[in-house]
Amino acid sequence: MTGRLQGRVALVTGASRGIGYQLAKLLAAEGAHVVAVARTVGGLEDLDDEIRAAGGATTLVPLDLTDMAGIDRLGGAIHERWGKLDALVVNAGALGVLAPIGHIQAKVFDKTMRLNVDATWRLIRTADPLLRAAPAGRAVVMSSGAAHSAKAYWGLYAATKAAGEAMVKSWANETRSLPLRVNSVNPGATRTAMRALAMPGEDPQTLPSPAEVAASVLPLLTDETTETGRLFDVRQNRFLTYRDPD
Ligand code: NDP
Repeated sequence: MTGRLQGRVALVTGASRGIGYQLAKLLAAEGAHVVAVARTVGGLEDLDDEIRAAGGATTLVPLDLTDMAGIDRLGGAIHERWGKLDALVVNAGALGVLAPIGHIQAKVFDKTMRLNVDATWRLIRTADPLLRAAPAGRAVVMSSGAAHSAKAYWGLYAATKAAGEAMVKSWANETRSLPLRVNSVNPGATRTAMRALAMPGEDPQTLPSPAEVAASVLPLLTDETTETGRLFDVRQNRFLTYRDPD
């Protein structure tokens, strides 16, 4: 296999289906060894079959990302095997529930925060030294338009995505002088299980496929991208400009 990511190691969470699955395939097609994380072994095995058939390489990691110690162990294993990580894709996420802010069950709130926020931070923490050890580390954290749209009933999910974007911006400011580049991505409405859960009445065929979205995200994980601390909007195929800090 030859490609832009030959010899590189890429960690993708939420790789068992949807956007993460497709992005993992594209990273492998560019030559990266893909460390694929999710809970569903069948989905990971399907991914492995596809990547291997195309001549690529994977390491499958069946892991519930609400297991923080598991994330730490994964970082340790990557350190032992490769001593570096070239690309991090924090993609696994959950919608939680669409409900008035005062009606969200504490159990659902905590679980959604744990996956979308705590695990995002824990992955960043474990990957940061590994990404710094790579010659041109790249990280992408999946956000959503919900982080900014303040739509009624989307408060829980929106809060988790806003938290992810805030972490990415600070992380970028801490690493700006390094080769490491870290960005958030708003994939936009995409034909996946999560979107169907949020919008059951919508015709999925009217939406871009996860493969199309993944193709737009891929350049953010290559040397091509020199931006850091920004939000990439897939629909507009460009980085959006944040308001300057006060
Ligand atoms: P899917 O629901 O299709 O896939 C979610 C992925 O996350 C699956 O691989 C799932 O694997 C994994 N995951 C969920 N919970 C856990 C867990 N506890 N531990 C480990 N892995 C977990 O989602 P999408 O592909 O649609 O979403 C990908 C990202 O894009 C998400 O962060 C989402 O918020 C964001 N996004 C999506 C949009 C859309 O329209 N689809 C719009 C805006 C943002 P498994 O169940 O096997 O563990």
